[in-house]
Amino acid sequence: MVYVETLVMGLGAMGSAALYHLARQGEKPVGIDQYDVGHAFGSSHGHSRAFRTFYHDSFYTELAEAALPRWRELESLSKSRLLTLNGAVFFAKPGNERFDQYVRVLDESGTPFELQSPSQVANRFPALKPPEGVDVCYTPRAGFLDANRAVQTHVSQALRLGATIHKGIRVLNVDAGRNSPEIETEVGLYKCDRLVLTPGPWAPQILADISIPLHVTRQQKFYFQPHQTSPYEPDLLPVYADFDTQFYGFPYYGPGIKVADDTLGEYTTPDKIDRSLDVIKQSQLQAWLEAIMPSANFSFGSGATCMYTVTPDLDFLIGAHPRNPNILVGAGFSGHGFKFSTLIGLMLAELATQGTTTHPIKRFRLDRFREV
Ligand SMILES: Cc1cc2nc3c(=O)[nH]c(=O)nc-3n(C[C@H](O)[C@H](O)[C@H](O)COP(=O)(O)OP(=O)(O)OC[C@H]3O[C@@H](n4cnc5c(N)ncnc54)[C@H](O)[C@@H]3O)c2cc1C
Repeated sequence: MVYVETLVMGLGAMGSAALYHLARQGEKPVGIDQYDVGHAFGSSHGHSRAFRTFYHDSFYTELAEAALPRWRELESLSKSRLLTLNGAVFFAKPGNERFDQYVRVLDESGTPFELQSPSQVANRFPALKPPEGVDVCYTPRAGFLDANRAVQTHVSQALRLGATIHKGIRVLNVDAGRNSPEIETEVGLYKCDRLVLTPGPWAPQILADISIPLHVTRQQKFYFQPHQTSPYEPDLLPVYADFDTQFYGFPYYGPGIKVADDTLGEYTTPDKIDRSLDVIKQSQLQAWLEAIMPSANFSFGSGATCMYTVTPDLDFLIGAHPRNPNILVGAGFSGHGFKFSTLIGLMLAELATQGTTTHPIKRFRLDRFREV
């Protein structure tokens, strides 16, 4: 049996951030994962995740604003570039309620934004031509995070501060019934004083005993190559989202121009997921990209399959396990958690070490669903 004071199970975006913040608070946490850090089987792999303050609810706008200085702090400690704030453009046909609501929230929260015509956008960003007649909003309080680098940076900084990681070890069972939580793994038993559970799309299995209504969906992202890299790089092309199709994309970064569909894919599990690429989705996204960037000749580069872990209200699950206050859970990030991950790691670390956090987590409590 291995005894550790603070154990973090799952080292994706959330667990790596929790490990880092625990180490910053002077703990000597141990992180455990079934794969190597940065693996491509969960939800946190790849080159980019949108960072945006535009949301349906100012709660999330404020949360993103609170996460931003934490990213900058991590950048300055690690001397690595994680967050590029190159702005975002979102558009929709007139009358799109979601578009109108997002603009209202930007306005009410005092976030800078500009309503523009498609031709004004095209003048500002030479590659981008939203369809004629759509409503367009530009905000500078958005951009993207380098996802792989963010996870690696959280882990490397945690290691530097005294954390340890045990990789390639699968957790088979979590025993929440004891005051000191125990986890059974392929290589034996771990006992700890406090356990942070951040299992991503494996959460329905790991949290099966508390019946939280979580669903895992199959999502895909594709990289396309323009015939040349300019004017598709981040200084000339922002993040862009079409609220009618729910397709969105990034500037040229890493292996190309990434585009994805934000609508929820079919239900799956991490063990059964079909990881082959959906060629119909690929051609739909390529056609969309060519329509809004008509001056480029795009060729297909690569693609990847990923998973969302969604709650019924698309709000997260952050807080103590209903049957054991020494187990802190961060799960159900519903396809929009990455931008907050460094802040969520801090919340989980504070909950683990102090039993409370000053950050607003009431909305994320685990017992808000009747089934719990
Ligand atoms: C295609 C796609 C696009 C997205 N776009 C955005 C975006 O633009 N902006 C944004 O903010 N968010 C976005 N998200 C959401 C964001 O990426 C996720 O919310 C976030 O990465 C979830 O991180 P996680 O740590 O919860 O999960 P994961 O990264 O999956 O980490 C869970 C970890 O737990 C480990 N684990 C699980 N079970 C076990 C076990 N039994 N034993 C040992 N280890 C275990 C896994 O191996 C894994 O490493 C997107 C997600 C996807 C899939």
